[in-house]
Formats: sequence, C-alpha cells, structure tokens
Amino acid sequence: MESLNRVEISRSALIHNFQICRQLSGEAAILPLVKADGYGHGMVECARILASQGAAAFGVAEAIEGVRLREAGITQPILVLVGVVPQVLPDIVGARLTPVVTDASILPELSRLVGAKGLELGVHLKLDAGMGRQGALPADFPELVQAVLRAPHLRLDGVMAHFPLADDRLSDNSAEVLRIFRETTAMLADFGCGKCCLHLANSGGLFYVAGARLDMVRPGIALYGYYPDGAAGTATAPPPRLRPVMRYVSRIIQIRRVPAGRGLGYGHLFTTARESTIAVLPVGYANGYLRRLTGRAEVLIGGRRVPVVGRISMNLTLVDVTDLPEPRMGDEVVLLGRQGKEEIGADEIAGWMETISYEVLCLFGQLNARGMVD
Ligand SMILES: *Cc1c(COP(=O)(O)O)cnc(C)c1O
Repeated sequence: MESLNRVEISRSALIHNFQICRQLSGEAAILPLVKADGYGHGMVECARILASQGAAAFGVAEAIEGVRLREAGITQPILVLVGVVPQVLPDIVGARLTPVVTDASILPELSRLVGAKGLELGVHLKLDAGMGRQGALPADFPELVQAVLRAPHLRLDGVMAHFPLADDRLSDNSAEVLRIFRETTAMLADFGCGKCCLHLANSGGLFYVAGARLDMVRPGIALYGYYPDGAAGTATAPPPRLRPVMRYVSRIIQIRRVPAGRGLGYGHLFTTARESTIAVLPVGYANGYLRRLTGRAEVLIGGRRVPVVGRISMNLTLVDVTDLPEPRMGDEVVLLGRQGKEEIGADEIAGWMETISYEVLCLFGQLNARGMVD
C-alpha cells in the first residue's frame, strides 16, 4: 500500500550531475554531501549510486548518519562535519568514521579510544578561513595541527574550510577565503604533512570560484540538480546543465463544481469569482507543502499550470482547475518537477516559500514516501 503523495528520485539524473561535477573537478577527488538524508533524496540510496560512480568519500552532518552509511555497506571515508563531541567518539571509532576536528580538546580522548582498539584513525581539521562558524582561526591553526601530530594513533589526513559566499558570483569574498586557506595551510609542508588532502569547494566553489578545487571538492546541491544561487532553469545557469533529481507528485482525490461567491477552506481566504471547478489534493504542510505557499503556489495537472487557492491545511490543498479541459479524480498532480512540457523547479517553489532550494528538497524528501525511478 502506497501513499498518494510520493517523491520520485531519478537515478540517471543523479549520475548525470555527478558526471558534470567530475568534469568540473578535473583531478580533484569528489566528496558528495549526503547530510540531511541526502538533501531529502535518500542518503543510503544516493551514496550507493555515487560510490559506484567513483565518489572518493562522503560527508554527513552527525556521526549517527555515518554509522548508518557503514551499516549500509559504504566503505569510503565518511567525514563527520558536525558535533564531534565526547559522547559520539565511541561510535566514530567503532564505525571508522573520519571526524572533522574543530577543537584540540577532543584529541586526547579520541586518541585513547583509537589506541585501545589497536587502530590508527585519520582526522581532518576545520580551518575558519572566513566562514565564521566552526573551526580554528588561522592564528590558532598551527597549534591545532601540532596537537594532532602529537596525539598517538591519530593521523592528519586532511584540512578543510567552507565558503560563506560562494553562491554569490559577484562577490570577491571567495577569492579572499581561498587565499587565506592557501596561506594558512602552506605551513603543513613544514610539519611533514605536504600530502594532506586540502578541500574547500562546495557547489558554489566548484562552479564559480577559480582555483578552488584543490585536492577534493564537496558538492551537495549540484548533485541534486540545482545551482547554489538559484540559477537553475534561468538564462544565467552556466552550462553544462544540471538535471533536477527529485519529483514530487500527488493525485486529485476529488473534483468539485462550486458556484460563484463561495468561500473555500479555512478562513475563507479565497472566494470563487465565477462558477469554478476545484480539485482537492491530499497534500499539505504535514508533507512539507508549507502553509506559506497559500495563495502563491502553482501545480501541474495534464501538463498545465493551475493555481493553489485557499488556505493550505495539514493534509489538504485546493487548486482551481476551471480552465482545464477534463480533470478527473486520480489524475497525477506534479508539485515539483516536470510534467509534459511544463516544469516547476525547487528554485521557483523556494521563491514562493521565501527560502532556498535546499530547504524545499529537504522538506519534501523527508516528509513523504520516496522511491527511485529510472
Ligand atoms: C553542506 C556542505 C557542503 C555542500 O554545500 P552545497 O552548497 O550544497 O554544495 C560542502 N561543505 C560543507 C562543509 C557543508 O556543510
């Protein structure tokens, strides 16, 4: 038995986007970000596909996600980007995850746990080259490096930083962050860590920042088919074209003929101006189709755009299908994605929701039944 609402994930689009990232990354290795359940696309399924395509490593937020990837058979290094605290160290060591160390205070306990298992564990360091969020400031970086080198059983495998403005093609901030990252990490050679993997580029860094590829790149949103600045589907989208991976579809559960002058739904926010045909959809804010979309969103039915009318409620949404030739109960409704010649992208929905594509994908993907197609 399946839900009427389903998120479809296109394997071929994911592979297409990975290949584009590979073309752009040149010699650099690729670490796909699969945090937040693969931006709503399914962490395990996406990681398996990307591993088969040659992904060198994976990035998750919390250690628990890395443990799930190991349990699913992913053998590549898995970087834990968020929350490397004493409570999660046993799981990190047990699953051979790669902690991104932001603070030297964790190292003695990490070293002890790794040594107790008779292992050696690689770690990456986070340098704050301008993001202003996590990690060591450049002035404190040499001390953090030395702390890792002093800690038995630990190996310094990589150093990373993150761009705060890589989605802004007009800003010169990224060039500055790249310069600080290069200058600060230059000292690694003096410590005998010249082979350490340096990585900085998210999707914006990969697509828009010259010279940011370094040893490894960390695309997230681009793999799922969107540009970090929302350029998808616009004239400013740089070639080669990414393909959206997610589609979100539902079905019409009732067609109603409503006279003119009737208030529809909670608060009677919408009143029919004419005799109208209204289709009822079994989708609402519980599915991530946020209440904020009220009076703004459109959906696709029969390959044509129709407007959402009235309040979006928890599990119901109304659309005005008066102008469609023959809408029927059970017809497919596309909330995100392509139907016929029309397409609604996550950037367009993000505009209606006053957010970014990332949040739309996370919401739809994590709040609905999901399945792979093609
Ligand atoms: C999420 C994340 C990325 C990927 O960012 P996109 O904009 O989705 O490409 C890269 N690096 C770090 C540290 C991240 O947290």
